[in-house]
Amino acid sequence: MLNPISLDTLCAALADAMGIDAPNQAAAPNEALSAYVAEKLNGERADRLFMYNPDAIAQWVYEKYPQLFTETTKRTDLSLPFCTVMPSVTPVCFGTMYTGVQPEVHGIRKYEKPVIKTDSLFDAMIRAGKKCAIVAEKDCSMAMIYLDREMDYYIYETIEEVNAKACELIIRDEYDFIAVYNGNYDSFMHRYAPESIEALGEARANSEIFATFSVLIERYWGKHNTLVGFAMDHGCHEIDGKLGSHGLDMEEDLNIVHRYRIYPKH
Ligand SMILES: [Zn+2]
Repeated sequence: MLNPISLDTLCAALADAMGIDAPNQAAAPNEALSAYVAEKLNGERADRLFMYNPDAIAQWVYEKYPQLFTETTKRTDLSLPFCTVMPSVTPVCFGTMYTGVQPEVHGIRKYEKPVIKTDSLFDAMIRAGKKCAIVAEKDCSMAMIYLDREMDYYIYETIEEVNAKACELIIRDEYDFIAVYNGNYDSFMHRYAPESIEALGEARANSEIFATFSVLIERYWGKHNTLVGFAMDHGCHEIDGKLGSHGLDMEEDLNIVHRYRIYPKH
């Protein structure tokens, strides 16, 4: 069964969590996330948002191999199941994640990476005076589709440089919204299959680095109310020849489960 709630509800809920107006065409906010933030912050809003975007970790992978995700699961307390959008490929799904609109509105409807002109969470943050950064690997979707905004882009050749920069930015404590993209599970899943030791090792690496970011946020962002998300774009499935793929209208590709945590200021 497909998850009933569309990924397009996330964006307005993230804006709501930060106490800013949603991007102007975004779908209504995800009620579970808004209720969670309101409860954890006693009606206050977050002033920091840190989104970790691992690529292609399917809900079925997360649920079949919970031991690989222990460090993420124990550092988060809200599960948000989503149905991502079609076609379930990276730029289409991240386009919806941060605009809150369906692909026919943001305009990316296949695997291509033009700059999205539709109003996005980055634009909404910037209008509200927030400082934003994207940290991502060169040529990946997240490095390209939200270019041309008044914000900072830290683009590197390797995932190690991406994650080291993300740690540095957390410690510097200067950005209100940081989005960090890691494509390692996706690339190993395509090359070796979703349940290969190679790919599952990368999934565990995603969980571990998210835990490291969480530890740093707890240590260095104590003056802030922070919302942290472990937020993938789509799932994946095994194809003939044991390789992995995604992009189809099927549960394995469309069902994802995000994890969130509020760190209140202290
Ligand atoms: Zn992807």
